[in-house]
Amino acid sequence: MKLFSCPACDQVLFFNNTRCERCGHALGYEPRQNRLLALEPAGDAWVSVGYKSAGDHWVYCDNHRYNVCNWLIPAGSGEKYCLADRHNMMVPDLSNPRNQALWAKMEAAKHRLFYTLLRLKLPLYTRDEHREGLGFKFLADDPNSPKKVMTGHEDGVVTVALAEADDLERETRRNAMGEPYRTLLGHFRHEVGHWYWDILVRDGGDALEACRAVFGDDTEDYGEALKRHYANGPKANWQEEFVSAYAGSHPWEDFAETWAHYLHIVDTLEVGGSFGMTIHPRLDRDGILTTDLDFDVYGEETTIEEIADGWLAISQALNSMNRAMGLSDLYPFVLSPAVIRKLGFIHDLVHGRAGDRLALDVAADSVPASAGMLARQSEEAA
Ligand SMILES: [Zn+2]
Ligand SMILES: [Zn+2]
Ligand SMILES: [Zn+2]
Repeated sequence: MKLFSCPACDQVLFFNNTRCERCGHALGYEPRQNRLLALEPAGDAWVSVGYKSAGDHWVYCDNHRYNVCNWLIPAGSGEKYCLADRHNMMVPDLSNPRNQALWAKMEAAKHRLFYTLLRLKLPLYTRDEHREGLGFKFLADDPNSPKKVMTGHEDGVVTVALAEADDLERETRRNAMGEPYRTLLGHFRHEVGHWYWDILVRDGGDALEACRAVFGDDTEDYGEALKRHYANGPKANWQEEFVSAYAGSHPWEDFAETWAHYLHIVDTLEVGGSFGMTIHPRLDRDGILTTDLDFDVYGEETTIEEIADGWLAISQALNSMNRAMGLSDLYPFVLSPAVIRKLGFIHDLVHGRAGDRLALDVAADSVPASAGMLARQSEEAA
């Protein structure tokens, strides 16, 4: 995520700001050109003021009225929802103020997810545009049922347990699962990774064989693999091959976990670059913890080695700062060479190059269409 500035007064702004504290203008995020606009009312719409965009007319996404979205739509486009919220299929009952507060946290995480997906120019289809388009259902637990909503993905539909937005509940689940990290943003990035596996790997021609060469054979029975994971615990020495213990449960989960980490890393590196961060420890004679975050982390030319090197330096520095504040590590993970190779596959996939490296000659019609996808129905996301 980058820093923004107010087009009317140059005040530094953040992604989710809705009002400039210096000049008082209303603000909206315009995703097509990745900018915050300063706005003045113009009849039923808003007109943008200040440099570059002055005079354009905009309306807010309909979810602006619930204070969960500051994204803009060109006035007169006929769209009701922004590029992020047009994927919502079901939101909680908003007559309940608690639901409204939890949903707001969910939307903050979801909008950040979409920021990165758009920056990476990844394909996005709604349920109207594609049979297996990406959709979100935010579901509150039924107080009259012992059954809890499970977060998971199935055929493009991401179900999100609203209860996870409650910090106490999420922390309780994190402890119960023995996880070092559990956040709403992590859930969104993980679950959408399953969808991109369908879109970019399963339906991606050569990418499927290339993916199997890196992540292993995904035709392994998914339900049995998860049962085994929960019954026996993580694989021995999982740290050598997987980014998390849960990633070792099945190649699909490995992919989704690695995908989520790729999004964590590029977002955080962009923050560092936007702040002009450079890390040069005087004691680091080998340059291992040294980086200038001056590269375009979304650029096609940027290599996974540059990303991994920058990430090693910055994550070590940030972990040390968290320890100085008595907090747990910002990034409580280790990227082994095998995991960096997997991140390299995701990097190539995102930039449309997966499959090129192996140059496998797989005919498109020999790729199985939907191998056991239903099994992923009610997983607990890591
Ligand atoms: Zn301003
Ligand atoms: Zn919106
Ligand atoms: Zn998963």
